Amino acid sequence: MNEAEVASGGSAPDTHVFQADVARLLDLMVHSVYSEKDIFLRELISNAADACEKLRYEAIANPDLIGNGGAFGITISADKDAKTLTVADNGIGMNREDLVSALGTIASSGTKAFLDKISQSGEAQGNQNLIGQFGIGFYSAFMVASSVQVETRRAGTDEAWSWTSDGKGSYQIAALPLDAAPVHGTRVTLHINDDNTEFLEPYRIESLIREHSGAVAVPISVIDKPGEDARTLTDGAALWAKSKQDITPDDYTEFYRGLGGHFDEPALTIHWRAEGRYEYNVLAFVPGSKPFDLFDPARKGKAKLYVRRVLITSDADLLPGWLRFVRLVVDTADLPLNMSRELIQQSPIFAAIRKGVTNRVLQDLSKLAETDAPTFKTVWENFGAVLKEGLYEDPERRDAIYKLARFASSTHPDGDRSLVDYVANLRPNQTAIYYLLGDDLKRLGISPQLEGFKARGIEVLLLPDAVDAFWVSTAAGYEGKPFKSVTQGAADIKLVPLNEGETEKTASDVSPEVATLLAFMKQTLADAVEDVRASDRLSESPACLVAPEFGPDRRMERILAQHGKSGALSKPVLEINPTHPLVTSLAARVAADSDKGLIEDASWLLHDEARIMDGEMPTDAAAFAGRLRRVLERASA
Ligand code: ADP
Ligand code: MG
Repeated sequence: MNEAEVASGGSAPDTHVFQADVARLLDLMVHSVYSEKDIFLRELISNAADACEKLRYEAIANPDLIGNGGAFGITISADKDAKTLTVADNGIGMNREDLVSALGTIASSGTKAFLDKISQSGEAQGNQNLIGQFGIGFYSAFMVASSVQVETRRAGTDEAWSWTSDGKGSYQIAALPLDAAPVHGTRVTLHINDDNTEFLEPYRIESLIREHSGAVAVPISVIDKPGEDARTLTDGAALWAKSKQDITPDDYTEFYRGLGGHFDEPALTIHWRAEGRYEYNVLAFVPGSKPFDLFDPARKGKAKLYVRRVLITSDADLLPGWLRFVRLVVDTADLPLNMSRELIQQSPIFAAIRKGVTNRVLQDLSKLAETDAPTFKTVWENFGAVLKEGLYEDPERRDAIYKLARFASSTHPDGDRSLVDYVANLRPNQTAIYYLLGDDLKRLGISPQLEGFKARGIEVLLLPDAVDAFWVSTAAGYEGKPFKSVTQGAADIKLVPLNEGETEKTASDVSPEVATLLAFMKQTLADAVEDVRASDRLSESPACLVAPEFGPDRRMERILAQHGKSGALSKPVLEINPTHPLVTSLAARVAADSDKGLIEDASWLLHDEARIMDGEMPTDAAAFAGRLRRVLERASA
């Protein structure tokens, strides 16, 4: 049947195959052994509420869309005999295209990410609890239903449609006579399967709604059996407008979970009413765990903007990108309703609210750091890499973010050092805040680059996040101390006294033999390094690579190159530990003019080993293997 026949009222169903991703997801749902199947009801109620909020918004410009004066509601009806559970709303409804795109494809990048995660680890079984974490929306109905029917009519249209599926690869769409359809809105009927008849019991339904959907912004009623009157369970009052004394921690948690995508406890809940020039209510949540799309390139936040209880948009630009993990709801009467979403967000009032909200969230995060260090630690572990983006994006707030920042360091590997701690721990004559960039905290901790600093008791911040390379390069310093990479140039730490028992390594007065070795190595490695010189920073390792005196930090350079933002990498300097036994014995051979081949191999091996310690591959893997083999053969000969 073609489109025209369907539209003209033909009622023979039209079969469609699900998009491949949907089929994967449905298969997972149908075979789900996930124990908390009851999330399906929350998902359906949340869709129904979204549909009401959408119509409430559209009706501002077009009041004719709603016939009943805007009394929105969601009704859940159970029918034990027929084994059906129905979730009905008088929201915006769907036309035929909406049905195909909303219930036949997956638009959300989050759900795709979820599927990839599941299939990556192969075993669906062990991943069942991921279902709960992600919240898969409409399709979760197939965890409890053998088939699902959606009857719907889009407000303002004269067609209604029925969508049905058993969740096994395809769905049917048929035209629905208008007298059998909602005036506007959607009715979702689940044919509950035999294993899940508990969801037909009124007490079970009621407790689920109270527990999970109590804060939904549309009133919810229940009809326990056909023919009975509806009982209203929740009033649809906005949680943010209630006074704090009337709200329990559970209310907040359920509201937060109802925002979608979170099944954890919020680490921090901030609820306030801003009064003054502009008035607005705010509810903000810092999630208790890391969402999977945290590093999505779009860097979009999830902020809902209401004007007088009307949802204007669910992705309002109310927070900077570096606070995108905060879930936010703002409701104000100070913005105009009769203006487009875009214009509303360009208004100076919107900008003032954005600023107020950003400052308050930062302020409460620093309060949390002071009053509840363990909770703050998890917040920082989850979101620190995002917050640090603010250090270079938002110079005005840099100081506030410095206060929050926590680091692992060479002396405190636990990761809870603040800059205040660092500066309090400066060694005599220490003039800079030293750091080491990399991508793996463990490897950073054992880097040869740290040896000279350890010998002087100087703390070095270990910075393993990609974002670190950016903020340290733009940061002017902290408390008058510049940030300085330990791999950059000759380390100017000579003025800092050595720890007891350490002896000064002076790079300048090396023995003539070592000087000859250095010259030999420089010649051998001419293509790979800018210079080979004696190091005064190494004490245990024989060699390490550093950036040339005025060159950029090596890790920074690599990140820029990966993003196509710089040309050829500059050649590093190979620093050699002049007192290391390996170095002195090689030097003796050079002096005796013996074994040129061995010394050449050793030069390259030292160079490649230093690269490996920096998390890189040897320059030429095949040549590296050949040299290693030759040296081993000699050693075992
Ligand atoms: P999400 O709610 O995250 O978008 P869902 O899987 O829950 O994902 O729903 C998919 C889409 O189906 C919704 O975005 C919406 O367009 C549509 N939809 C689902 N239920 C309804 C409903 N009751 N009324 C109108 N549209 C709905
Ligand atoms: Mg949904």
